[in-house]
Amino acid sequence: MKISFQPYQLELKYPFRISGFSRTYTPLMLVKVFHEGYTGLGEASMVPYMGENFETASHFLKQIDLSWMKLPFNYPELRTYLDGIADGNPAIKAAIDIALHDLEGKLNSTPCFRFFGSEQEKMPVTSVTIGIDSPDVIIKKIEEAEFARVLKVKLGSDDDKRLIETIRSVSPKPLYADANQGWTNKEEALDFIYWLKDNGVEILEQPMDKNNIEGNAWITERSPIPILADEAIQRLAGLNKIKGAYHGINIKLMKSAGMHEAFEMIEKARKYDMKVLIGCMSETSVATSAGIALAPLCDWADLDGPFLTNNNPFDNPAFKDGKWLLSNKPGLGIPDNNF
Ligand code: MG
Repeated sequence: MKISFQPYQLELKYPFRISGFSRTYTPLMLVKVFHEGYTGLGEASMVPYMGENFETASHFLKQIDLSWMKLPFNYPELRTYLDGIADGNPAIKAAIDIALHDLEGKLNSTPCFRFFGSEQEKMPVTSVTIGIDSPDVIIKKIEEAEFARVLKVKLGSDDDKRLIETIRSVSPKPLYADANQGWTNKEEALDFIYWLKDNGVEILEQPMDKNNIEGNAWITERSPIPILADEAIQRLAGLNKIKGAYHGINIKLMKSAGMHEAFEMIEKARKYDMKVLIGCMSETSVATSAGIALAPLCDWADLDGPFLTNNNPFDNPAFKDGKWLLSNKPGLGIPDNNF
């Protein structure tokens, strides 16, 4: 089995701003695996705060030899192999895992979602993020997202109330909110969460610093809406540590090192009686399609990558009535002739 890779700069429609920083593109590493005339597509989306980049990804990929892998692919064994090469690097590990799932689906003429038992009937609506901006730009973004049934807002600016009020002046849609660890006072945070609930916010991600387990747990215990861990959870092994401190978790393939471990995290979260949101980074249709294949197993979906970028080299997956549609084509359902 051979592997090839290519760096790609994914341009954002609008500069991405969350508490404390801003950027205009996301570096990707597009990965292909080849076997018996078939090609599997994978993707690493390397957002700066996660610490991966073109150099770390190339360095990692140059050490990979997948010639030992036999069908059906053994993903736990793959994980042991990849984690043995280096710790961390979850996005480039995800790219390899996604490419192998796509390849395995194509080799077996099976869509990836069937590997996990996903069904279209259980597909949640996906939210579309309205990033922090001036009121006129926010209103423009909301108009552009008219196809979405739920909007997501990034909080943590100086004027979160005005942001919500701006949205409410033009849209009655349900909102998901994300504080991105931006709040430092738990009592004030809780008061604000009640206000958010009154203004149609249904779930909230990561109110306080990821290391402040007690503060987040204090809020979770009292919150009228589900509180979800995002920055506080990356891979399966971390779930035990935050169990009980949040109502649920935000799983992203770029944190979980791919589809297989994301699936295991969903199963483990259910055992812990925790809810699951499946989220994404800035991604092309490749990684988003991998997320879509798992989304019906989750309570909520925030898979808006392809809506927020300018130069996705692949066609968007099918989308209808606020929901992604599972593709019945083999693998992830994406033709590989684009790159
Ligand atoms: Mg988040």
